[in-house]
Amino acid sequence: MAELNQKERMKIKRHDMPNQDPLVRRRNYDEVALGYSEATAKKEAERCLQCKDPKCVQGCPVGVLIPQFIKALREGDMVKAVEWMKVKNNLPAICGRVCPQETQCEGNCILGKKGEPVAIGRLERFVGDFELAHRTCPLAKAAPTGKNAAVVGSGPSGLTCAVDLGREGHKVTLFESLHGPGGVLVYGIPEFRLPKRVVYGEINYAVECLGIDIKIDHVIGRTFTLDELLNDYDAVFLGTGAGLPSFMRIPGINLNGVMSANEFLTRVNLMKGYLFPQYDTPVKVGRKVAVIGAGNVAMDAVRCSLRLQTLHSRKTNELPGEVHMVYRRSRDEVPAREEEFHHAGEEGVIFDFLTNPVEILGDEKGNVKGMRCIRMRLGEPDKSGRRSPVPIEGSEFEMEVDTVIMALGTSPNPLVFVEAEGLERTKHGTAVADPETGRTRKMRVWAGGDVVTGAATVISAMGAGKRAAADIDKFLKGEAPWQ
Ligand SMILES: Cc1cc2nc3c(=O)[nH]c(=O)nc-3n(C[C@H](O)[C@H](O)[C@H](O)COP(=O)(O)OP(=O)(O)OC[C@H]3O[C@@H](n4cnc5c(N)ncnc54)[C@H](O)[C@@H]3O)c2cc1C
Ligand code: SF4
Repeated sequence: MAELNQKERMKIKRHDMPNQDPLVRRRNYDEVALGYSEATAKKEAERCLQCKDPKCVQGCPVGVLIPQFIKALREGDMVKAVEWMKVKNNLPAICGRVCPQETQCEGNCILGKKGEPVAIGRLERFVGDFELAHRTCPLAKAAPTGKNAAVVGSGPSGLTCAVDLGREGHKVTLFESLHGPGGVLVYGIPEFRLPKRVVYGEINYAVECLGIDIKIDHVIGRTFTLDELLNDYDAVFLGTGAGLPSFMRIPGINLNGVMSANEFLTRVNLMKGYLFPQYDTPVKVGRKVAVIGAGNVAMDAVRCSLRLQTLHSRKTNELPGEVHMVYRRSRDEVPAREEEFHHAGEEGVIFDFLTNPVEILGDEKGNVKGMRCIRMRLGEPDKSGRRSPVPIEGSEFEMEVDTVIMALGTSPNPLVFVEAEGLERTKHGTAVADPETGRTRKMRVWAGGDVVTGAATVISAMGAGKRAAADIDKFLKGEAPWQ
């Protein structure tokens, strides 16, 4: 294609992502977004203006070299595109699928000021998938340094830290409490949003190329304490996430049929509950499900519930039930990614905005039979800047439901802090660590990702793992002693 000028580039319309039909996809767990073809990716890449001061890069938490990888892509040099991408981002096939681009890189893209931003996330996914299929960017490993490091937790922060340390020639052991690695990427985010072949592709490649030793079913704080790890390893990175769910303090919370979204999603994803929806275990949803909350976790829970119901009703010839998302604020405050909200609506999720449960109602056997809710209105902005919900007196009503899934946020699991003297925690239960280096107040211990920030994003966890690995590497090489 002949070189286009700025005006011509600005005339090209953003290219849609092909998706599975909503009526078809609510009956399966296959990926919803089907990805760009090579031709579409190149056409979308033509829209980029190659800004001298690229605002998109400023919007990316790890500063991916966006104009550079897009230029290589549109010139058809995929090997170069991967190289540019990997300077800052080890996991583009994952980030391209789950990052909240609309508030990060795309939210800052200059084209978004008057029209639609370059579809940076979709292009990132295209480059990431190319690399998964062709492996043009080998994970080179430096000569062994004779130093070893333990990484605790195999989510995006731990994986990134382990890979970067492995590449520098350090011997890395990755400890994971669950029976499979990947953290939230595997047990939280469902297959239809992030296929596990993508996550396992990255993990297996790292293990094969770098010899990282993964020890699953090892709970640090129980199987070994942090202090025991420090006896055996020169450095320890904690990337244990924020997997402890919060519950509402309302009557009825202990009834059968009330669960946390974390438990529900783990049963669906890690234990593959969706493969046998006709049985009560490892997960069962009823015919009227209410998910409380409206973040990414809530969105995944409603969409999984919907699929479980549809699969179950096909087996039993019953009519599918209903899935409600109950949120105390309005549509404008929904914190989930825009795309997930849109997809959930297309699939048939019912949204109950400005509604809050005040009691969960049970039957004589202790099973959930309904919720007493109250209508809300929006008051003054709170600390987060969002208008706070205020109950409307006398507006209480009952809602018939048989399953209630709480998706109200999470905090770090305290186990890793057991027998870890000197590892400081905030009042919110998060580890205290330097944001630039990941160093905690305990010697030779680094931390990053959700365990430090509280529930955040994949890319921010990855960035923290990268920064900590750089500092650990310097420490192990004697270039940055512990002060
Ligand atoms: C359902 C869901 C959907 C999400 N959707 C998105 C999204 O679309 N986009 C986005 O950017 N972010 C999303 N997030 C947030 C994102 O996944 C997290 O911010 C990110 O995974 C945090 O990475 P991490 O490495 O800090 O921790 P995690 O991914 O939580 O990994 C921590 C790992 O440590 C292990 N562990 C914990 N304690 C111990 C211990 N004591 N010993 C050994 N191992 C331990 C855990 O089992 C886990 O495997 C979502 C989160 C959830 C729950
Ligand atoms: S801001 Fe948009 S147009 Fe400019 S370099 Fe970034 S992606 Fe391209």
